[in-house]
Amino acid sequence: MLLKLKCTVNNYAWGAKGEASMAGSLALDGGHIPNLDKDKPYAEFWVGTHANGPAHVIENGIALKQLLATSPNLQGKHENGKLSFLFKVLSVVAPLSIQIHPTKEQGKILHAKDPKNYPDDNHKPEIAIALTEFELLSGFRQHSQISEYLKLYSEIQELLTEEEKGQIDNLGSYGESSSQVLKQIFSRIWRTPKEQLQIVVDKLARRIQGQENKSALDEIIVYLFTMYPGDVGVFAPIFLNYFKLQPGEATFLEPNMPHAYLKGDCVECMADSDNTIRAGLTPKYIDVESLVEMLNYNETLLPKYIPNELEDGSLLFTPRGIEEFWVQEVKGPAGSIYQLPYSESCSVLTVLYGKPSISQAEMANCDNNPWKKNAWGKKEGEVEEPIVSFVDVMSEEFIEDMSLQEKLEDERYIKHIEQVYGDSSTSEEQLPINTEGMTDEEVALALQRQFDREYDVALAVATSSSIHIAPDRYHPKTLQETDSEDEDDDALRQAATNMLYAKLDADDAARLRPEGPSTSRTKHDTGVSGRRNADKTFNDRNPLPTGDMVNDKLNNKVYNRLMAFGKSETKRQMRHKDKEEKATMDTSVDSDTRLLLLKWINQGVFDSVDGIIATGKESAVLHAQNSVTSFAIKVYKTTLSEFKNRSEYVKDDFRFKNPRAVLKIWAEREHMNLSRMAKKHLPCPQPIEVRKNILVMSFIGDSGLAAPRLKNVDWDFFIDEEMKEVYDQIMIRMYKECDLVHADLSEFNLLLAPGNKVHVIDVSQAMDLSHPRCLQFLTRDIHNILSFFNKIGSPNLPTNVTLFNMITDLEMVENEDLLVQVEQFSEENRSVDLRHDKSRPADMELKKYNEEKKANRGVSPAREYN
Ligand code: ADP
Ligand code: MG
Repeated sequence: MLLKLKCTVNNYAWGAKGEASMAGSLALDGGHIPNLDKDKPYAEFWVGTHANGPAHVIENGIALKQLLATSPNLQGKHENGKLSFLFKVLSVVAPLSIQIHPTKEQGKILHAKDPKNYPDDNHKPEIAIALTEFELLSGFRQHSQISEYLKLYSEIQELLTEEEKGQIDNLGSYGESSSQVLKQIFSRIWRTPKEQLQIVVDKLARRIQGQENKSALDEIIVYLFTMYPGDVGVFAPIFLNYFKLQPGEATFLEPNMPHAYLKGDCVECMADSDNTIRAGLTPKYIDVESLVEMLNYNETLLPKYIPNELEDGSLLFTPRGIEEFWVQEVKGPAGSIYQLPYSESCSVLTVLYGKPSISQAEMANCDNNPWKKNAWGKKEGEVEEPIVSFVDVMSEEFIEDMSLQEKLEDERYIKHIEQVYGDSSTSEEQLPINTEGMTDEEVALALQRQFDREYDVALAVATSSSIHIAPDRYHPKTLQETDSEDEDDDALRQAATNMLYAKLDADDAARLRPEGPSTSRTKHDTGVSGRRNADKTFNDRNPLPTGDMVNDKLNNKVYNRLMAFGKSETKRQMRHKDKEEKATMDTSVDSDTRLLLLKWINQGVFDSVDGIIATGKESAVLHAQNSVTSFAIKVYKTTLSEFKNRSEYVKDDFRFKNPRAVLKIWAEREHMNLSRMAKKHLPCPQPIEVRKNILVMSFIGDSGLAAPRLKNVDWDFFIDEEMKEVYDQIMIRMYKECDLVHADLSEFNLLLAPGNKVHVIDVSQAMDLSHPRCLQFLTRDIHNILSFFNKIGSPNLPTNVTLFNMITDLEMVENEDLLVQVEQFSEENRSVDLRHDKSRPADMELKKYNEEKKANRGVSPAREYN
């Protein structure tokens, strides 16, 4: 049903006045207000049911909120009596306060604590789409850039302690710890008493004001200073990305992402809420403590949101993880007809330009329930699928394709094992095999097969393990001091240990043997063994002494009891460890991993998994070997929350619309990138297998000792050559020969292999050169590498710009900020790409990825759409 609404305008002081306000003009044209006062600001035009600006139904004057609350037939099943979103048009002439919006959980807490300042208990993610050139601040800059600016605008440092000043260089140096440093510095500044703050703000702004040549950043600082002299928000552009959206461009503001609108008109859509925590540029109260705790200090490298273009040319803005709304922008030449898609939920339609006629087709054929037939004119049965973004469809199919095969295979495997040995109650007296008429050798071989299967059961069903891990055996301990990266990962280390290390006490095992020590050894030995690992594992690895107990008459009942014991014992040990270490672990995931490792053992990829090399934030790396060589197995951590800080790499990336895909994708992606690199013989691990969240690659190191990271090498013996290798063999070749930017390159992800050859690892986040921000990531890689070399005192370092030019063959200018130049370059060169590439970088990457995958394996994970 189509209803005409009368909406509200809010007259906040920062709004454009009179006719200059798009929000005001819109309200006037639509008859929402009777006239425009030229001296009055018309800041926001609201369409929604929020109490601070509710809409009414024109026909009967009833509040929309009331109508929805009493007419469930007007809404989709998932809606509960109100609009879940709020749609606005904003006309900004003076800066709005810098602000963040809470998550749902935070919204609840804040509202309960302080209902006056936090009027509802909801979250407020929002998307802003520019109507005119729209200036704003949003998200923290690259930390390395903040570091530079804190030096450039050095007055700010007067607010910091000596220790904090010393930390400025660590901004941008490595992942999480950098965010901690930023939090410390930011909190210090924002907590400074007003009087002291005012002095420093004044000093900084006045110095810049006096300067002859002002950078864009200088200008904006001075502008904010003239509007809000002495306000801490004047510092905001030093910390936050400052940028302009062109008409049609958009940005998505996640919870806890700091932002301030400065100038221009935009459409805004958000979850139905008005919860705002202010951070500056306001005479109003700033809740500094909530602010500094809640802020997301991560770098925001992709402040722009890129919509999906649908076939009919309209644009769909569907920010990731948001259930409350999407926005569709429909444009057409005069005279064109556009049929809006069917939607199961309430939607609002706002005409911004032109005078279209809007009608509800074929309503005459409707029965009483308006939703039975498509409200927009199609009959039941003809109703189109609700429109889903192209990339969503692709990613769903991709995941389905990828997991189906694996799932079936796993099920078959488990079934097989269970069928063969699952129900043993009937077989106590039976010989496991019929030996009649067999030669000794045949019996031996049959038994061997039997053992191998028992072995499978022992491992897969009872989850006790031949995979025996001595923690840290392969850890390059002697060369490696512990570093902060690993320290807080005890939990993961513990989980990895638990996962693979289940051992029975020798005494326990002895007590358990129902028939005493083994009486008759089987004919089972390497001589007759048809397969490689059973003997070895049975005799010295298997936690359960089944090998010794099994004779020609395998007593399955006993065997099962043993297995059951093994299981409960494992659990007991784990519980014990849990308690001790306060570590938790997800057993279901672990058994999956275990099963997969076993399969590889059975397939002969390797013989045993026997050590933890390292545990990182997102993965545990294990050591495996066969008689010939060693392997590194990277097991991606399986809790999704761990991947939050990775979002910067994957915004706009089709694969991350669907969080379930994340785990597999990282492993897949690392495999793919390693393949690209190995093909060109770069110094990196050879990719060997990938399944689910597990990647098998060649081991870098010597006789079981993993190669140390550059971070941990004793650099007294530093040789220029090795350093040059990092540029020549890794950075330049990755870019020029493999079309890749590492995007997380640092002393942590470079290993010094035997023979002092530097190898690069950890390329899951490495990105194709088609990624719209790859040059920015490259700039950061360069910064990381050069500051590390500088720190260890290596001579003859190139400048950032020289190295950048060496890698890319571009011609950036020395003595100017590299990142600024790169931003400029990206901005100017966006148009040289194909339009498709530009609007859908993720699709481009998907295309490339599929091509490669097809070439490598002959399967395409995603079917063509249509
Ligand atoms: P993360 O993504 O968790 O940082 P990495 O791929 O960097 O994972 O691996 C973590 C650690 O494991 C590395 O720092 C390195 O010490 C070790 N490692 C990873 N791959 C290998 C390998 N192929 N050979 C030897 N050691 C490795
Ligand atoms: Mg790493």
